Amino acid sequence: MAGEPQEDCLFCKIVAGQVPATIVRETETTVAFRDINPQAPTHVLVIPKAHHKDAATLAAEAPELAADVLRETRAVADEDQLDSYRVVFNTGAGAGQTVFHAHAHVVGGRGLAWPPG
Ligand code: 5GP
Ligand code: ZN
Repeated sequence: MAGEPQEDCLFCKIVAGQVPATIVRETETTVAFRDINPQAPTHVLVIPKAHHKDAATLAAEAPELAADVLRETRAVADEDQLDSYRVVFNTGAGAGQTVFHAHAHVVGGRGLAWPPG
């Protein structure tokens, strides 16, 4: 069923506390934690606690939860006092998605070129 935890999903395991993570924020529906391989001084992943495989699926299956994730990206940026930052949802393997549990990357704390390449 949509949103149910998946046994083989790394981020579901982080939600369940089975894999450790440096959690920076938690709400009833979301968790935000530092990326294990940071690409900038701030590199935080915001995920819904419920399992949806990517941002497109999340938006279609649970739009209010997608809004919760977006709201939390702002809260993470505020906590790290970032005026400028980037929010990225890699969607699909061809776009660099490696973990198939929807997540927003919040990246900032250094200059960010655009287009990203
Ligand atoms: P994706 O490539 O799917 O958009 O992003 C997945 C992100 O998860 C990568 O930036 C990667 O560094 C991060 N990541 C992978 N495994 C772990 C982990 O065990 N803990 C944490 N905190 N981040 C992870
Ligand atoms: Zn999951």
